[in-house]
Amino acid sequence: MSGTPIAPTMSEPPTVWIAEPASRLLHEVAEAQYPLETGGSLLGYAVGDDFVVMDIVGPGPGATHQRYRFSPDADFQQEAINVRFFATQGRETYLGDWHTHPDGQAQMSWLDRRTLSRIARKTPDMRWEPLMLLLAGRPYGWSPAAFLHAKSGWPFGLHSAQRDMTIRYFTPH
Ligand SMILES: [Zn+2]
Repeated sequence: MSGTPIAPTMSEPPTVWIAEPASRLLHEVAEAQYPLETGGSLLGYAVGDDFVVMDIVGPGPGATHQRYRFSPDADFQQEAINVRFFATQGRETYLGDWHTHPDGQAQMSWLDRRTLSRIARKTPDMRWEPLMLLLAGRPYGWSPAAFLHAKSGWPFGLHSAQRDMTIRYFTPH
């Protein structure tokens, strides 16, 4: 859980680097709602094909949490994204979404694939494809997995693919 934050050359497969404070917050938020699903947004920046997650946004007060379903508070997400964007002079912004699979697998469900495709369609001005980070398991036993949206050439993103990403952690300076 330490070492050089950013490799000098791009890594293959693409890597999601998660800052340790963001990782701790991710786990705290996940455990606060367990065994219900929860989630939110990922904030950071892209470096080549890699992504750096500097902070996460929690669900927000208007979110709905169910056993196999989660819907974030959209206004809360947008406000948190805006605050981070201005606080970092635009360096850190929205990278994608994250959510938990309590007692589940770190794999994209059909609904997750549809959600990620919808995010990609709703954010055409993003300079990169959106991410989906999953945290599957239970308190003290979470497994992360990250997926990058990939354009398929099919209309409406109906058949868009997701690409598995490597996850690594780093300590920000
Ligand atoms: Zn899911």
